[in-house]
Amino acid sequence: MSDLIASFQVDHTKIAPGIYVSRTDRVGGLSVTTYDIRMKYPNVEPAVHSNAMHTIEHVVATFLRNDPCWKDRIVYWGPMGCLTGCYLIMQGAPDPETEICPLMLAAFRHLRDFEGEVPGASAVNCGNWRLHDLAMAKWEAARFVERLESAPSFEYPLAVRAVTAGGEAFFDS
Ligand SMILES: [Zn+2]
Repeated sequence: MSDLIASFQVDHTKIAPGIYVSRTDRVGGLSVTTYDIRMKYPNVEPAVHSNAMHTIEHVVATFLRNDPCWKDRIVYWGPMGCLTGCYLIMQGAPDPETEICPLMLAAFRHLRDFEGEVPGASAVNCGNWRLHDLAMAKWEAARFVERLESAPSFEYPLAVRAVTAGGEAFFDS
């Protein structure tokens, strides 16, 4: 990762729903890309409820890790702590607009149309299996699909990276 990228962070007052490259790292000589899958306008509209986000985590992770084209390149899928989106980590550097956006559309259409039991929603498979809301997750998926189908953003609005009172560079992931 270059110092230029490290010295900037996303400006959360300007970010819109969309798909962004959050960072690129070299791990063992290979590129690994972290994508910001932003579902909400931060601090402007309600964030995703924790129960619905937990269901989004389970259903979309199951979809991605079973996808015949992409499963071998999925490193990680999980919610942001702020509940306005998710992080997707991939091997390599697939293009946000032409590769990751179609993959996210497929994943969230799958969730929008999902019927039946939430995968892994049991005490054996999950650390908080009652913390789920499939109906609300489906509603959020439908909303995000609409946004990706209409006018998704792919360019991060940047600001100078914040520094803590102790002089450390701030990171949220
Ligand atoms: Zn779980």
